[in-house]
Amino acid sequence: MKQFEYINAKSIQEAAEILSVLKNEARIIAGGTDLLIELRRPNAKTPQTVVDITSVKELKGISESNGSIILKPLATHTEIHKSDLVKKFAGFLGEAASVIGAPQIRNRGTVGGNVMNAATCADTVPALIALGAKVTLHSVTATRTMPIVDFFIKPYKTKANADDILTEIKIPKLPSGAKSAFIKLGRRNALSISRLSVAAVLVQDKSGIITEARIVPGAALPTWMRVTEAERMLIGEKPTEKLFEAAGKKVSEVMISFTGRRWSTEYKEPVIGVLVRRALEKCIILLNEVRKNEC
Ligand SMILES: Cc1cc2nc3c(=O)[nH]c(=O)nc-3n(C[C@H](O)[C@H](O)[C@H](O)COP(=O)(O)OP(=O)(O)OC[C@H]3O[C@@H](n4cnc5c(N)ncnc54)[C@H](O)[C@@H]3O)c2cc1C
Repeated sequence: MKQFEYINAKSIQEAAEILSVLKNEARIIAGGTDLLIELRRPNAKTPQTVVDITSVKELKGISESNGSIILKPLATHTEIHKSDLVKKFAGFLGEAASVIGAPQIRNRGTVGGNVMNAATCADTVPALIALGAKVTLHSVTATRTMPIVDFFIKPYKTKANADDILTEIKIPKLPSGAKSAFIKLGRRNALSISRLSVAAVLVQDKSGIITEARIVPGAALPTWMRVTEAERMLIGEKPTEKLFEAAGKKVSEVMISFTGRRWSTEYKEPVIGVLVRRALEKCIILLNEVRKNEC
């Protein structure tokens, strides 16, 4: 790895001022679990300066405000997984955080780094999209907030400018009675990068009719999105295996409409369908458990 200047910023303002001067010549470091690997690559463009934000208190923590969960970007995957607030109002985000890498990676890696790195296999992102999260970016000249679904342009490319710092992720709580699931498929069980994943949310009314559905596949599409064509198939219906299979098939079709048929399609086409079915079934099992406890 080539040498660079290291600055330990103490405030958002200090970090923002450095970025405003150096722009592309500076990079932020949080947990470093993506950045250091990138900088060690033989052809990596080494920045002049790396700005460490891990001492910035304003960028830490998970809290609640006006019906929303506020995730600060330095929240680690372990903190998210262990957060009671996340467990209660955004369960599948905690599940996603709990299967990232290994304990060491989860203790260092942050949600901000996961979002800003924008790898297609980033595990927190499908859940954040399904939750309708918003991201706030701060620079010396502007602070702007946008839905996370609009934030990604393509793998490893976001709408953030070189001088932007991600300062907050705001997550509306799931509606009461909603159940969510995150399923990830990797090449092995531990320390595994997602080959495919699915984040799903279901809400049923008292008679068991599905009133709300959200489905976001991960590592399947050029960028993340809710597959509304599949969601619409579920609304107004009672859950059945056949219905969930059909929704899964729809997600496969949508995936192929974006990616075309390529070497991995033979594998991904059936597998994404099965993952969608399983994620939806998991939501229903959780919903039934809640009902049993209410009786
Ligand atoms: C062995 C291993 C296994 C892994 N397994 C998984 C996995 O299973 N699932 C998964 O999703 N990821 C995995 N990762 C990737 C990585 O751990 C995560 O993406 C992690 O969340 C990155 O966070 P970080 O704090 O380490 O980011 P860093 O490496 O510090 O930063 C990543 C990028 O984000 C930018 N950045 C960070 N914070 C901010 C901010 N607040 N504002 C602006 N820019 C910022 C940095 O400049 C850099 O470009 C793995 C990595 C390793 C090394």
